[in-house]
Amino acid sequence: MPLPGPGEQLAHLPAVDRLLNAPPLAALAQELGTAFVKRAAQAELAAAREAIKSGSAAPTFDALVAATATAARIFAAPRLTSVINLTGTVIHTNLGRALLADEAIDAVAAAMRQYVALEYDLAGAGRGDRDDIVEDLLRELTGAPAVTVVNNNAGAVVLALAALAARREVIVSRGELIEIGGAFRLPDIMEAAGCKLVEVGTTNRTHPRDYEDAITPKTALIVKAHWSNYAITGFTAAVDDQTLAAIAHRAGLPYMVDLGAGAVIDLSHYGLPREPLPQESLAAGADVVTFSGDKLLGGPQAGLIVGTPAAIAKIKKHPLKRALRCSKLTLAALEATLRIYASGHRLPERLPVLALLTRPAADIRAACEHVQAALAAFAGKDYAASIEACASQIGSGSLPVERLPSFAVVLTPAQAKGAGRAVERLAARLRELPTPVVGRIAGQRLWLDCRCLRSDDEAALLQQLAMAKPITDHRSPVTQC
Ligand SMILES: *Cc1c(COP(=O)(O)O)cnc(C)c1O
Repeated sequence: MPLPGPGEQLAHLPAVDRLLNAPPLAALAQELGTAFVKRAAQAELAAAREAIKSGSAAPTFDALVAATATAARIFAAPRLTSVINLTGTVIHTNLGRALLADEAIDAVAAAMRQYVALEYDLAGAGRGDRDDIVEDLLRELTGAPAVTVVNNNAGAVVLALAALAARREVIVSRGELIEIGGAFRLPDIMEAAGCKLVEVGTTNRTHPRDYEDAITPKTALIVKAHWSNYAITGFTAAVDDQTLAAIAHRAGLPYMVDLGAGAVIDLSHYGLPREPLPQESLAAGADVVTFSGDKLLGGPQAGLIVGTPAAIAKIKKHPLKRALRCSKLTLAALEATLRIYASGHRLPERLPVLALLTRPAADIRAACEHVQAALAAFAGKDYAASIEACASQIGSGSLPVERLPSFAVVLTPAQAKGAGRAVERLAARLRELPTPVVGRIAGQRLWLDCRCLRSDDEAALLQQLAMAKPITDHRSPVTQC
């Protein structure tokens, strides 16, 4: 019997409703909601029509049902999916930066479920200021007389520049015209804030005279930006906070520091590299210091602005402050995080960022040992699994040259030929797991640094590796599960 022509095949495709009435899809609609299953059925039928028009055979009814079920599950699955971070980078911007303390998570959940006194003065029953929620804590921790908070540090910088220097000149060292990944480039931010950038010095050396000579009647502000993701070494010179603040103040100008990473405690007490602290810049005379909430502080995404009452009052009055204000969820998490610091009590246990950064190498090695065999079995005979010493990054622009001693399970393709592609394929298979696993490729090997593999992640990883089928034909990567 000759095969039916495309026209006939198209006519025989089931209607959407008939597909939806198939028992497996009717059951799935009960589980996921009809909308996702219907959208999937429409998409699968459209794909089948296209395929038939270009000469392929029509799928069977059962194949359409199966494809629709798969597509419906994909439509219904969250895009903001949890991942297992085996990159070794603790504050990974692309993986959501800081993990929050349990206290912060509970505070956010409570603020979502209940009304909160966000801008409500309970003593006077009048309107309050949402900054008050964290004001005392931030003042206590940084020694700043005044504070305000916005949505992120990039916003804090734009706002401070707009409030203190719009349409006027801002002096910055050429060595500090930084780009911090994504779209944060200091020269662009200056322009967006309506300021005129005046560059002084050279890439590697800037001296006090350079700043002094650049001051004109149009100057509004001197800014220092912390090098957050690179280092200038060798024949270098930069001007310290105290000197810069004095130069600015002699000319009647404010001095601002964008610190970026923003630790509020001296991390060297925990054996970590020393980061500059906002309290140090303030003590040296800075009028404004900005830093992130979700980098070393280990809190929610936020931009913290601390400084003198005069500078902070101008910043709070600017209309952009309203546009950049934090939500109650941010404030709930930030308050709880700052309160942990204020308590001074068991910080590394309560703050996950600090816990991960200070995790002992022996503990990381033990985590590697717990998962090595399961990873070896998952990778299959075409890869060798070993445990090796490596170095983790702090991440998000905290001291880029400093690395923390760590350990990784390293998966190495058995064959040198095609090793690059083999290692990419294995990395892709790990990313296709129900809870995707993200590692790091270096030297044609896949490095799974276990610094951020906590015990709950470890259990989840072992469970899904156990459920994944071993790959026999490594040339045809397939989705597990
Ligand atoms: C990270 C960083 C920023 C941007 O902060 P976000 O919190 O990402 O908005 C700005 N300046 C410096 C120096 C930084 O390190």
